[in-house]
Amino acid sequence: LDSKAFRTALIGWYKSNRRELPWRETNDPFLIWVSEIMLQQTQVNTVIPYFQRFVQVFPNLAALKRATQQDVLSVWQGLGYYRRAKNLLAAAKSLKTVPNTFSELLALPGIGRYTAAAIASIAFGERCAVVDGNVERVISRLCCIDESGSKLKRKCETVSQFAMSDVNPGDWNQALMELGATICRPLEPRCDKCPVAKFCNANRTASQSKYPMAKPTAKPIKLIHACVCPVHQGKVGLCKVASGQWWDGMWQFPRTEVEASETPLAAAERLGFADLKGLLIVKHSVTRYSITLHSFVAKLKNQRRDLKWFGQDSISELPMPAPQRKVAEALRQTVIST
Ligand code: SF4
Repeated sequence: LDSKAFRTALIGWYKSNRRELPWRETNDPFLIWVSEIMLQQTQVNTVIPYFQRFVQVFPNLAALKRATQQDVLSVWQGLGYYRRAKNLLAAAKSLKTVPNTFSELLALPGIGRYTAAAIASIAFGERCAVVDGNVERVISRLCCIDESGSKLKRKCETVSQFAMSDVNPGDWNQALMELGATICRPLEPRCDKCPVAKFCNANRTASQSKYPMAKPTAKPIKLIHACVCPVHQGKVGLCKVASGQWWDGMWQFPRTEVEASETPLAAAERLGFADLKGLLIVKHSVTRYSITLHSFVAKLKNQRRDLKWFGQDSISELPMPAPQRKVAEALRQTVIST
């Protein structure tokens, strides 16, 4: 890849074909930082409306510094991976300005090599390679790299770092990512439309489908949860997820894991409610976990101190994990008589 002709073809293509995205219309490091955090593990099209809403509410670092965790989670809810929002807020509170080097960015909570490199190169022009799944696919095909997993990632980083040479690092990184997202697609790369096809070893040897090499995949871990929606005098009881647990700081219906030896109903009964009626079963995947959530509606048996009571309408304002939000929606649609 280390040729001027390659760089000229790639960057020229990027400049005239790049997708218009809200975070590409700015040089503001704060907005670029927010976009890169949102883009972690999330598709571009999903991020766009969340990004627009977030920066309307928190247009700059000072506005974010003033926010509470609940303010941020309310705007973030639905986008998932909530630790990102908490880390973003924690980092913002510790800063006067957005740090302008890779190593300072890397020291912030929630920022790994990929995100630090993306922000440093795009917002500050620092010469550091960004390697995400798209870049890995493009470089592994261009160079026919017979590696997978972390070895492949390291090799791609070395190649990209070396090859970006004299071009703008932000453009270089975004051009490679854009090429992977729109042309060098996983299943059907559009090599006939590719600006760097003549430099590509996989294209020359018709081995596109071999790269990137697959790494052995781990099976998802299955978890079964049960939750109960307590209903009392027309209100619904929710509790706050304890700190250190998944989704901490958000609101949920009392929930427990279903043990291997019990039914979801028996697990729900352990939560201390009476007259349980099945409501909805939600399937949800988080990282390598596949969760099935069985929900029940119940009348209150004993007072539980961790419950707070909300009217149906105010629940939509609360930050809730995605599967619990679906349960809340199903509950709202059910006519409840207490
Ligand atoms: S020629 Fe095909 S395989 Fe090679 S980089 Fe372009 S799209 Fe990917």
